Amino acid sequence: MINVFQPDLGAEELEAVKRVFASNWVGKGQVTAQFEAAFAKYIGVDGSLVRSVNCCTEGLFQAMSLMEIGPGDEVVLPTISFVGAANAVLSCGAKPVFCDVDARTLNPTAALLEERFTSRTKAVLILHYGGVPCEMDEISSLLEGRGIALIEDSACSVASRYKGRACGTFGDIGVWSFDAMKILVCGDGGMIYCRSSDLARRAEELTYLGLMTKSGLASATDSKWWQFEISCGGRRAIMNDILSAIGMEQLKKLTSFIARRREIHERYTERLSEEGWLRVPPAISKECESSYYFYWIQTKPNVRDALARYLKDMGIYTTFRYYPLHWVKFYGSEVSLPNAELAAQSTLCLPLHHSLTDVEIDTILRAVLDYRPHAG
Ligand SMILES: *Cc1c(COP(=O)(O)O)cnc(C)c1O
Repeated sequence: MINVFQPDLGAEELEAVKRVFASNWVGKGQVTAQFEAAFAKYIGVDGSLVRSVNCCTEGLFQAMSLMEIGPGDEVVLPTISFVGAANAVLSCGAKPVFCDVDARTLNPTAALLEERFTSRTKAVLILHYGGVPCEMDEISSLLEGRGIALIEDSACSVASRYKGRACGTFGDIGVWSFDAMKILVCGDGGMIYCRSSDLARRAEELTYLGLMTKSGLASATDSKWWQFEISCGGRRAIMNDILSAIGMEQLKKLTSFIARRREIHERYTERLSEEGWLRVPPAISKECESSYYFYWIQTKPNVRDALARYLKDMGIYTTFRYYPLHWVKFYGSEVSLPNAELAAQSTLCLPLHHSLTDVEIDTILRAVLDYRPHAG
């Protein structure tokens, strides 16, 4: 089976893990601090604004606490979002309010976000679908002076930039994921960017039991080093040096990962853009850099479902991300969001990962093109 997503871990990562084993310290330590600093540098922000976290979902949950979102508040997010984003909103007693997306990019737009604003809107939580940046100028000016926080789920957009600025650094909080299915893979792990270093320090306390690591308490209790004070009843949600060592190596390879993904993306578009029965993703604006996390085609709904089954029988796994959250009964949303509903029935994500071989890409393309006579 050709996988739709796949990590690319090699000898360098194994060597880095060996060094951590040999150091006798596998918990959160020096290597994690190095990884945080290297990641901050990569996204072009000061190191004091970035902290690691055990996963991006936890980062989304922490974002709610950091923005002091609670009962009575509403958070607007695109219905085409990761399930953990809505769960994070629910967890703090606030209400997730789902908005529509552009039918072609599957990104939320300023206008679609604004449609769902009420006097209770406390934050918007956007997602850069497939690694293609949202229209950040429009979203930033929508939020300006309104007292509405901006949280960016940057799990798909580790290398994405809008007018040169990294996705995840436009708002109050940005979160990234390094889970097994992402581009930069540590097995698990994530990062949180915060607008201010005070907020980042708070994030560090929230993810480590509320312990006040930078309070100076440690030196005050030199003679009784077992004493401590906490600032809140925080959880423990940290990355360790084993994961961070893998992350350091993956970060070094990230530029070449993205270059290969871009090549595959362009190859798909080149071969599929002339097909009348399907649509390729919209061209990426010259002002933006994508992470090329998804490659998606769009067909008539009945064709999408049959094509997905056909490709699976041919040993090619495809999927659709992300199933609209307003269709998930648990959230109890009764809104109708026509663009997202159409996209959810017509969009198929083809395999896209940097270990795909040219032969596999040809196999995928041939299978899709062979389907044309059945597409009506
Ligand atoms: C994977 C993913 C997450 C969650 O990341 P984890 O590190 O697995 O918790 C959040 N948002 C999006 C868009 C994702 O794709």
